[in-house]
Amino acid sequence: MTEQADELGNLPVVGSEDDTPREACGVFGVYAPGQPVAHLTYLGLYALQHRGQESAGMAVSDGEALTVVKDMGLVSNAFDDRTLAALTGDLAIGQTRYSTTGSSTWHNAQPVYRGVDAVEFALGHNGNLVNTEDLAAEAGMLPGAVTSDTDLMAELLAAELSSYGGISKAEAMDAALAVVLPRLHGAFSLVIVDHERIIGVRDPNGFRPLCLGRLDGGWVLASESPALDVIGAHMVRELDPGEVVVIDGTGCRSFRPFDDDAVDPRLCLFEFVYFARPDSVLYGQSVHQARVRMGEMLAEQAPVDADLVMGVPESGIPAAEGYARASGIPYGQGLVKNRYIGRTFIAPTQALRSTAVRMKLNPLRDNIVGQRLVVVDDSIVRGTTTRAMVRMLRDAGAAEIHMRISSPPYRWPCFYGMDTGTRGELLAANLTVDEIREYLEVDSLTYMKLENLLESTGAVGAGFCDACLTGNYPIDIPVNLSKAVLEGVAGAPATERAVPVGSRQNDDGLPAEVASRLFGGD
Ligand code: SF4
Repeated sequence: MTEQADELGNLPVVGSEDDTPREACGVFGVYAPGQPVAHLTYLGLYALQHRGQESAGMAVSDGEALTVVKDMGLVSNAFDDRTLAALTGDLAIGQTRYSTTGSSTWHNAQPVYRGVDAVEFALGHNGNLVNTEDLAAEAGMLPGAVTSDTDLMAELLAAELSSYGGISKAEAMDAALAVVLPRLHGAFSLVIVDHERIIGVRDPNGFRPLCLGRLDGGWVLASESPALDVIGAHMVRELDPGEVVVIDGTGCRSFRPFDDDAVDPRLCLFEFVYFARPDSVLYGQSVHQARVRMGEMLAEQAPVDADLVMGVPESGIPAAEGYARASGIPYGQGLVKNRYIGRTFIAPTQALRSTAVRMKLNPLRDNIVGQRLVVVDDSIVRGTTTRAMVRMLRDAGAAEIHMRISSPPYRWPCFYGMDTGTRGELLAANLTVDEIREYLEVDSLTYMKLENLLESTGAVGAGFCDACLTGNYPIDIPVNLSKAVLEGVAGAPATERAVPVGSRQNDDGLPAEVASRLFGGD
């Protein structure tokens, strides 16, 4: 049976079956008078496609008007040549979205727009606020008045802007940001555009990355440095946690509207492990090199006799190379990824969705038959993909399978811009490592120690969030936080997400005693 599209024509996306953490949005901004800023933004967003595939959009200013174009799906779906050619101007921002607060609809696609008297602005967001409900209540908003945390931020900014008179637009925007930003709790790397300037904001914890680049005659803001590379810009620096950068015809300046004691660098550790592109630079470190080091340290932490080291495409591959280098075991390819599918794709039928893993990965039998394999992956979230992948390798003739994971067990949900679902869906929140090994049907399983992971980044003392691994949340999480908190729709509240769930169904293949202990029954 064909899956039903919703009223906006959005088909369901294969996601809940996926085993990896889901990305956290990408943002981009460019100030480049005389240059084709819409095309530059398109290229920048293309380089950030891995951070969000549900929708894409951009806002372009020609100095007098702001035009927003957005659509569901990939960057290549959202814009065509005619659209880009029509978007003339000197400055622009763009966003690729993966939804956290607010459902995946065209209405919630970004950038979000507001017009206040003669001031127009648009805003793109990477991250997730944790005090949305309080902010909406404090502002006296009726249920449904705003439908995402980004929409809420834009509304608060617009309300603040409308209260100013007798000062320039630039002064008004600075003042409004200084009032609104400190009230936001959670993760927010923002790009904002109005008629004359682009603005970059990084929250005081710096959960999500944001960097500044220089382009011939212009400036660029981007979630990750490869978005600078693709348009020929060079990296100037990463924005500091708590920094606001304003770029206009007078140049680039910054200010810091947050209290000093609120500034506490906590870059998401999973940016290093999985989210960021390998060619990105975070905390001044090459992400690829960090992932190779993770593999090297994993080999020292958990050696094993084996014939071949292979990585799970694609983010497990650098760590596999590191493991092979440090262990002396040959590295080889064991799985081929269908490069035309990408990380998410539309599955037309339920039957195809259940075979999503086979649509993405296929074993390379010549390298597998009779071999003792070390299989390196970056993380296990729900375990469904890993289990199916292990079965594929067994069917292809693997003699032994030793899983090595380049991060510690993923036990706690993320509320800072990544959607993992409830705690009951996280395999390591419910099973011991030995029980996971049994569930996955592998010969051995080792997760990387947290201290080794931190050391692998090359930036140990720089400050990281590791809440999904330790349960130590840098910012308190309200008990009723859910993805649908602003939409008046029942969602999984934080109480469920933060407490082990004792009942769950359809977990085929769990060892009987484990299933019984976890899920009850006889
Ligand atoms: S909870 Fe995990 S995924 Fe979320 S920001 Fe912290 S380290 Fe990253």
